[in-house]
Order: sequence, then C-alpha cells, then structure tokens
Amino acid sequence: MNISENLKKFNKELPDDVTLVAVSKTKPVSDLMEAYNAGQRVFGENKIQEMEAKWQEMPKDIQWHMIGHVQRNKVKYMAPFVSLIHAVDSLKLLKEINKEAEKNERTIDCLLQIKIAEEDSKFGIDETDAASLLSSEEFKKLQNVKIVGLMGMATFTDDDKQISEEFQKLKNAYDKFRDQNSEIRILSMGMSGDYKVAIENGSNMVRVGSAIFGERNYNN
Ligand SMILES: *Cc1c(COP(=O)(O)O)cnc(C)c1O
Repeated sequence: MNISENLKKFNKELPDDVTLVAVSKTKPVSDLMEAYNAGQRVFGENKIQEMEAKWQEMPKDIQWHMIGHVQRNKVKYMAPFVSLIHAVDSLKLLKEINKEAEKNERTIDCLLQIKIAEEDSKFGIDETDAASLLSSEEFKKLQNVKIVGLMGMATFTDDDKQISEEFQKLKNAYDKFRDQNSEIRILSMGMSGDYKVAIENGSNMVRVGSAIFGERNYNN
C-alpha cells in the first residue's frame, strides 16, 4: 500500500471544494508522516489519547479532527489543539467542550452527528433534536463552541441506492440549517466505501481511512 500514491489519486479525484480528512486511527506516526510529506495536513482520529500522542509528536501545522464518539471526561486532553469535533450529539457534551475551550482561550468548531442510517446506531441525534438544540437559549449562551455543520454515517451496505437516500436526507437537513445559520458550512459524509455516493449527494468533507492507509489490523 503506497500512501502517497493513494493521496495523489484522491487529490486528483476529489472536487476542489471537498476537504479530505485522512483517517489515521490505529496507524503508526511513520504512516502519518508519509501522508504529511505528500502534503496532507488534515488528519482524523477516533480516540482522544491516541490523537493527543500523535499531536505531540508531529508537526504543528496539522489540523486534527476528532471523528469518533467523545467521552466528556476526555475533552480536556484535546481542547488545546483539536480543530474540528465531528460527532457531537448532546448539549451536555457541548457544554463540556465549551468549558475546556474557554480554559484554553479558544473557540472550538463542532459538527452535530445526525442519525441517518437505517441500522440501529447508538450515536447521533435526529434532525428535530438538532434543530431544537441549535435554537435553544442554553446553546446560544456558549461562547467558546461553534456548530459549523453536520456529520453522518450511512448504513454499512452494498446497496448504493439506500446509501444515497440516507445521504440525501442529511443533505436536506444541512440545507435547511444553513438557510437559518450562516456559520453552517461543513457537511461531513463519506468514507472509503461510500465517498463517491456522498459527494454526488453534496458532501464537502470526506473521512477516508483504509483507502489511503490500507486495512486496519483491528476493527474500530
Ligand atoms: C474509521 C472511520 C472512518 C474511516 O473509515 P474507512 O472505511 O477506513 O475509510 C470514517 N469516519 C469515522 C467516524 C470512522 O470512525
């Protein structure tokens, strides 16, 4: 698996307005450095402590995206440096991110994870709950977090039609929110197996791991 060749292919293939998040979870720093040396600056991780360790070790012009489920008690470890948190699914979590961002004199950008998959997923909220969160007074009081978009994961299936319908649902929600809120500008959907369908349906940020770095040794 040649990481820089894979990246070159993606950079050629992806439209200019689509940001590529290189999902490097479980991969060693040497693999990430190969991507870095090929020009990649946006990396996605799903475990806060693994991301923190890589941040410590790697060049400081990297943008680190937390793409996994976030436990509140670990927010403090990434608050000094994280550039985007993809999977926010509660006001409680936003309050914790706000508190830690304030301590670091930062504002942290976040995406709301919307449940779009038919399969039963533990994570994400539905569109209605996202709308009421965004319009709540409690949320508006938080000065150190910003919701800049939505994230979603389609059902893990070979059925492109189903995937397409799920992404379309998220795109519709995104368009609605964006009409009401000028800070909303990121639609994070699409992974190695479904990024093409995601882009056809309006994604402007794809999170690609195995198609760049190769299969992961263990499944997470
Ligand atoms: C692991 C992961 C990805 C990347 O998955 P690949 O299939 O390896 O591209 C994208 N998004 C999230 C939330 C992930 O956990």
